[in-house]
Amino acid sequence: MEDAVKSGKISGNGKYSQKCQKWFEETYEFNKCLLTTSCTDALEMAAILIDIQPGDEVILPSYTFVSTANAFVLRGAKLVFADSRKDHPGIDEASIEALITPKTKAIVPVHYAGVACDMDIIMDIAQKHGLFVVEDAAQAIDSFYTGRDGVKRALGSIGHLAAFSFHETKNIISGEGGMLVINDMQFAERAEIIWEKGTNRSSFFRGEVDKYGWVDVGSSFLPSEIIAAFLWAQLENLEKIQKRRLEVWNAYNDSLKLWAAENQIDMPHIPDFATNNAHMFYMVCNSIEQRTRLIDYMKKLGVQSVFHYVSLHTSIFYRNKHDYRILNETDRYADTLVRLPFYYELNEQKIIELILKYK
Ligand SMILES: *Cc1c(COP(=O)(O)O)cnc(C)c1O
Repeated sequence: MEDAVKSGKISGNGKYSQKCQKWFEETYEFNKCLLTTSCTDALEMAAILIDIQPGDEVILPSYTFVSTANAFVLRGAKLVFADSRKDHPGIDEASIEALITPKTKAIVPVHYAGVACDMDIIMDIAQKHGLFVVEDAAQAIDSFYTGRDGVKRALGSIGHLAAFSFHETKNIISGEGGMLVINDMQFAERAEIIWEKGTNRSSFFRGEVDKYGWVDVGSSFLPSEIIAAFLWAQLENLEKIQKRRLEVWNAYNDSLKLWAAENQIDMPHIPDFATNNAHMFYMVCNSIEQRTRLIDYMKKLGVQSVFHYVSLHTSIFYRNKHDYRILNETDRYADTLVRLPFYYELNEQKIIELILKYK
């Protein structure tokens, strides 16, 4: 960060932004990456790029963060919420096709807890119906999917577009921050324009045009070089960070397995086609009462465990716009999922000891 400041250029798209983008492209085989100020911004760019118009329908899980939905609602889309899987809070891939209408434009799978959705199924449906797939890979850095062809692909490299987050709650952080991944290169040129306030500034600086001006809609989606430099330092430590996070995750999983079974609590499920990037450690209680008791128990001992999303189809903003379908699994996770403390410097053994004493 000091180096970025000393260089005298701290606005966006400088040395550190380009270093990060290139690193991601090379490490995970993303076709083109653009750093953004948040994953929310990257999703908004995706909605502009696939040309969402008022009335277009977008299929997404209800059990997700508001930004997955807001990006498309801002452009007038109608949200069609899919239920979660029985064995995982991610979208129930088998339920997607029945939700498609002539107005459907995109599917937005969310890789919950960094665990892959079954992308072969989703990409097949998208191809059959001519839809775009935007991966909400906010939690999914350094996580992979192995498809039917046996090839292991990084999450974020499969959909037409993908969005990552470097918010401080994620594995790799820059305070606030995100990235748009462009895999379908038909979007590459326009993505840069939207990123740079609707101007062709990027191609001007590459010498491709002799003056730059306003050529399309856009906004200011670039982070400063100070943020990119912070992110670069995180990337230099990615292996170390991931190793430590996996250690925490495995300690929780190994030590709490028996205890969870005795209390009829489900441990996290990782399908065979997915890897674990140790983004979070969650458990699924057998009732909302049990979850409340467990959270209260830990709170009294000074351990902060938290639930997660309130289903978007029951939210104050969207419940009257939802089509009234009941989403049983989504509601179940909203009521019963609990997350344990999870960060690099955590003393997980202390937390495990406390939990094991809960009856
Ligand atoms: C964190 C998160 C976001 C938003 O990321 P920001 O960088 O804070 O905008 C979007 N979707 C999901 C699934 C997330 O977990």
